[in-house]
Amino acid sequence: MSQSLELNIAKVQQRIAAAAKKYCRELSPPHLIAVSKTRPAAAIRAAAGQGLVDFGENYLQESLQKIAELQDLGLCWHFIGPIQANKTRQIAEHFDWVHTVDRLKIAQRLSKQRPPELAPLQICIQLNLSNEDSKSGTKLEQLPELAQQVAELPQLELRGLMAIPRALEDSEAQRRQFGLLAAALTALQQQLPQLDTLSMGMSNDMEAAIAEGATLVRVGTDIFGPRETPMPIV
Ligand SMILES: *Cc1c(COP(=O)(O)O)cnc(C)c1O
Repeated sequence: MSQSLELNIAKVQQRIAAAAKKYCRELSPPHLIAVSKTRPAAAIRAAAGQGLVDFGENYLQESLQKIAELQDLGLCWHFIGPIQANKTRQIAEHFDWVHTVDRLKIAQRLSKQRPPELAPLQICIQLNLSNEDSKSGTKLEQLPELAQQVAELPQLELRGLMAIPRALEDSEAQRRQFGLLAAALTALQQQLPQLDTLSMGMSNDMEAAIAEGATLVRVGTDIFGPRETPMPIV
């Protein structure tokens, strides 16, 4: 297992380097977040042994166990799942980044509940790219106001935007979706010039995301292999 993990990580890093080169981003290549939802702590420990530091988790209960078990490694933890209001305290206490803030109430709770002795919680606002009511994420027309309000909350540092676009095979279509997120960030930077983060791109579309300016790519399957168990509903 560990050997294929080593190979998988090397391949993903090569893909990131190749895309950064192709799109003239060698001086500012995107940073890799290994998405470790449903994976045991031992797999994360092995990936950390290969030099990975940033890990993304979607389900609070399983992630808290793993964070506790891996405390000795000093990893950086990213919460990338949907957020229920009654879960914000544990997210604020145990994570470094939250990528999926999509409403003010959640941001206010995270701000109030972030322990003051910790560094500010790093925040991305999740944008709903298809503007469908069924999808999570804030809508484009609500983004400027929400971003301004989140940026003013103490104990939070608003860093940028995140999206999970529809899964598409065609790379031009993938690029169009990521381009919308990049344009939204550029527009927002008029108002909030400190924003510097585009969290976008997964195993199947990370090259397209890098082409459009991703600064954080979130990769699970191509590092740890296919997820066998159906995702737990938490
Ligand atoms: C699972 C997940 C990923 C990783 O997806 P892969 O296709 O396994 O690379 C990235 N981002 C989010 C928000 C996820 O839930």
